Amino acid sequence: MTTPIYLDYSATTPTDPRVVETMMPYFVEEFGNPSSNHIFGKRAEAAVNAARQTVADILNCRPSEIVFTSGGTESDNFAVRGAAWAARKRGQGTHLVTSSIEHGAVGKTVAQLAEEQGFTRTVLPVDSCGHVSVAEFADALTSETVLASIMYANNEVGTIQPIPELAAIARERGITFHTDAVQAAGQLDLDVERLGVDLLSLSAHKFYGPKGIGVLYIRRGTKLSPSQTGGSQEDGWRGGTHATPLIIGLAKALELAYDELDSRTAQNQALRDRLIGGILSRIPNAQLTGHPTDRLPSHASFVFANIDVRKLFTKLELKGIAASAASACKAKNATPSSVVLALGIEPELAGSSLRLTVGTHTTAAEIDYAVDTLAELIPALSLELA
Ligand SMILES: *Cc1c(COP(=O)(O)O)cnc(C)c1O
Repeated sequence: MTTPIYLDYSATTPTDPRVVETMMPYFVEEFGNPSSNHIFGKRAEAAVNAARQTVADILNCRPSEIVFTSGGTESDNFAVRGAAWAARKRGQGTHLVTSSIEHGAVGKTVAQLAEEQGFTRTVLPVDSCGHVSVAEFADALTSETVLASIMYANNEVGTIQPIPELAAIARERGITFHTDAVQAAGQLDLDVERLGVDLLSLSAHKFYGPKGIGVLYIRRGTKLSPSQTGGSQEDGWRGGTHATPLIIGLAKALELAYDELDSRTAQNQALRDRLIGGILSRIPNAQLTGHPTDRLPSHASFVFANIDVRKLFTKLELKGIAASAASACKAKNATPSSVVLALGIEPELAGSSLRLTVGTHTTAAEIDYAVDTLAELIPALSLELA
């Protein structure tokens, strides 16, 4: 077998060695608990504060508006559940608005609130490119709506939503607006003033930081019930001892991502376009999913008419190509992706979805190999099925 080629950067990224290096001292030498009132604690606290300032600078917010969590899933759960519970406690209403292509961390949390806790929900459809309609969004908001949660960029088809427009409409009506920016982070602008959001989720392992650490940005004045009750860490928003090395790593990774944004974007976009161009020109039954241009620079996704996708993945594995059937969390089941179905693609075609995502280690030679391999495999699989 050939050396495997990684084309699944949307599932996770390798931690940047420069990030690992900044984290190292915080395991052994600087091991103090940032909440302790002695020199060991104070040194760790200073490092956490510096990391918080770095993140706040990139998001254009106050350090006190940054809460460190265990990752994207927790940030999304915290935002959605926290806003819903706080609104109910204040008797403000119980209606939640979201889209049909959210990550499960938002979608299933909204579903649980509706099915088990007496909330109501509107799940907005998307068009064939994966966009939520701004007009439909505005129409869905009622006097009972307390939270809208629409993702910044989709993990399966890469489509970027018009967050500033959507958030402005919610805000005008006094409705809390959350965006899952986990895929957008490290690729798109995270200025919360320009976006106009109240809540925004990040996860470090999607931008070359460590796994198990994330951020929830909470705009000052936003009403939210705490996620984890316990100690008074994070201004009482989230109890639990700070994961100092991971926090340091997240901040370093985010800083590098935005220092190097232009060069990374240019490189990713060129590789992505080489991949999309190659596949569409050489494989007649290939169809791009998501928006042709309004998509993440790193992201390519397709469906292929008349192929058995499980056979394709078996062969791709033999050829050393690591790609994704849908999102990583769903890769084990063969049912069509709900995101691809939401674009209006027929179930049989939706079942053949393939996501290829590039990153800082991807080379043009790898892309060419992937295109050559798919151009060889797909016609053979189509014949087998016919
Ligand atoms: C990966 C991902 C998450 C989950 O983040 P974790 O840190 O892995 O829990 C949430 N939302 C989106 C859009 C993602 O891509």
